[in-house]
Amino acid sequence: MKIKYIIGHWTAGNLKPSGLDLKSYQLLVDGEGCVHSGLAPGCTSSTGGMNSVTYNIACCGGLLSSALTKNQTEKFYMICAKKLKEYGLSAFSFYTHAEIGEMCRGYRLKQQGKSYDTKHQIITDLLPYNQWLYQNIGKIDLTRLPDFRGNAFETGDFIRTKIVWYLKKL
Ligand SMILES: [Zn+2]
Repeated sequence: MKIKYIIGHWTAGNLKPSGLDLKSYQLLVDGEGCVHSGLAPGCTSSTGGMNSVTYNIACCGGLLSSALTKNQTEKFYMICAKKLKEYGLSAFSFYTHAEIGEMCRGYRLKQQGKSYDTKHQIITDLLPYNQWLYQNIGKIDLTRLPDFRGNAFETGDFIRTKIVWYLKKL
């Protein structure tokens, strides 16, 4: 399989990964900034309809009771930069799961003949349509970071800026 995108997640669980968390992503960063290996690409149900073309990295936590930490998110940005480089991708091949969800929502609205936000890409700009993509609608992964809060695309842009900074250091 060829990795085309790196998708950023949060587990919406505890700051330490559970057994299930470890089977749900390729890499996980815990609340202390330690990195845990998950399963190989293509072996997890991380991003509906995209698991065969994505490498999925999660921050453990994200709930109000397990807010992401600065050590954790900085490590996450750095690991995302490393993996993008490893796969020969730029920071613009990184998306948060929340962004993928919004792109899928846009596509569904378009198919329904309703208006949608044309400022942003829709999911079929990234890959051909498949029925599992709609599972991503409503995801809010990484919309609450230690240094920044915003909607899916605002937090995605913030993270890409961080990743670009780390890419220059590699
Ligand atoms: Zn997710």
